[in-house]
Amino acid sequence: MRNLILVLGDQLDIKSFAYAGFDAKVDRILMVEAVSEAGAVWSHKARIVLFISAMRHFRDLLVAAGMPVDYSLLAESADRSLADIWAERIARHRPARVIVCLPGEYRIKVGLEALCTASGVPLELRQDRHFLISQPEFAQWAGTRKTLLMETFYRHMRKQSGVLMVDGKPVGGVWNFDTENRGGFPRAGPGEIPAPAWFDPDALTLAVMREVEAAFPAHPGSLSNFGWPVTRDQALVALDRFVNTRLAGFGRFQDAMWTATPFGWHAMLSTSLNLKLLDPREVIDAALAAWRTHDLPLPAVEGFIRQIIGWREFMRGVYWRDMPTLGSANHFSHARALPSWYWTARTTMNCMRETIGQTLEHGYAHHIQRLMVTGNFALLAGIAPAEVHRWYLAVYVDAVEWVEMPNTLGMARFANGGRFTSKPYVASGAYIKRMSNYCSGCRYKPELRHGEKACPITTLYWNFLATHESELKGNMRTMLMVRNLARLPAEERIAIGQHAGKLLRHLDSV
Ligand code: FAD
Ligand code: SF4
Repeated sequence: MRNLILVLGDQLDIKSFAYAGFDAKVDRILMVEAVSEAGAVWSHKARIVLFISAMRHFRDLLVAAGMPVDYSLLAESADRSLADIWAERIARHRPARVIVCLPGEYRIKVGLEALCTASGVPLELRQDRHFLISQPEFAQWAGTRKTLLMETFYRHMRKQSGVLMVDGKPVGGVWNFDTENRGGFPRAGPGEIPAPAWFDPDALTLAVMREVEAAFPAHPGSLSNFGWPVTRDQALVALDRFVNTRLAGFGRFQDAMWTATPFGWHAMLSTSLNLKLLDPREVIDAALAAWRTHDLPLPAVEGFIRQIIGWREFMRGVYWRDMPTLGSANHFSHARALPSWYWTARTTMNCMRETIGQTLEHGYAHHIQRLMVTGNFALLAGIAPAEVHRWYLAVYVDAVEWVEMPNTLGMARFANGGRFTSKPYVASGAYIKRMSNYCSGCRYKPELRHGEKACPITTLYWNFLATHESELKGNMRTMLMVRNLARLPAEERIAIGQHAGKLLRHLDSV
């Protein structure tokens, strides 16, 4: 055998650079389902089903295209790790070379390098051309900057790609429409939102669901609503549905939250993008085409494109630049255990119950729910960042470490001390009240800082400001928050501290 091409669970693109020069006579593809990977974190059942079903559909596509595939099923890996199976296959096939596109996880990359060295087989690590910017290009852009600003990166990407640019200037005269994209839903509620594309599981997916229920019975999450795209054809339908029916409301209500509205106007395309069923270029082209066809609001289209060519590419760049140190970052030295209700949604706080509840039901919560509800609470309560990272990696169907980790540790937890965020994202219950209807169904009052009815998030917010007062008052973006704290009477500060202490001692029962 000449080349053994490893295809990982999130590399399901038949046009991948991994197949450049592929010759079916002398090359072979290896795909492995591994119990150890599904259990590396306590993964949501829907996340496991999504990856395995999409992998099996992709295997069938490769075989139909005449490409020889060695495919190892879940059952084969019960007592063996991914690395064990790779090692065994390398020994069996004795390829002259192993080829793989850069994995989505540092641990896998390092493990693979060690394995190939030990097996005496050269490893060719190829750039993943799915992304718009490669690692070396990102490194060149980042240069020696100590802090990396997404906004600067985004403008660089806009200029380089020419997307939403005319004569070297941004279309509409400004680079972003953030101020127009921060609205809550009207008081009467979100109204009619066109449904996202949802797919009845086919026979293959149903079989995977049964296998996963049997192999991982204690894992969190439900499969009763599983309808995520598992093939490229389905992903294209989902893309078409989004740009033609839901993109119009995306920007304006991007940050809004409402009970029983788990998806809002969001794209729900992250799983298809992260599995590489969709290419970001075609996603951008589809959004631009829909903008012209339907005369969509520019803020909606710009807001969406910003997520794809800005945040998504930026997070990947930061991940590879800052690993492995990012993984153990803990700026505030937080060490508390994750409350058990993160896995069950059994909490008295309505916002957390709603966000975690829909996460367990669908494996999905949108950005602001992840950042300003579950992320905010974990930061205010001083939960160990590594535990929070493991939770996010486990419970979201779109979770792959290159995108999950910088979002969790960098953006939600400020664990890397502000490498790319100018302040810790913390908010009191007042923010959640403004952006949702969660508080109206809650036993607590968002405006109360202490006492029986006080919102735990509000109490912990003021306590966080008090705990980190000296650091936060030196930051232009948090200075004002600390000034508000200084206005509180001494006895109120003492009462907040005492109430916060009680909450923190009994986090599992909040
Ligand atoms: P939309 O809100 O409709 O956005 C469109 C697309 O833009 C998404 O599909 C996604 O590809 C991209 N995007 C948007 N925001 C981001 C972002 N901050 N970083 C990278 N890409 C972005 N996203 C993941 O794909 N996987 C994760 O594991 C993940 N973990 C997160 C953890 C935390 C703590 C936070 C705050 C955010 C995380 N995100 C993650 C980013 C974001 O929340 C999801 O991409 C988004 O909610 C996916 O839903 P959607 O497809 O409906 O996205
Ligand atoms: Fe959440 Fe506080 Fe509002 Fe209750 S009152 S929903 S805990 S923000």
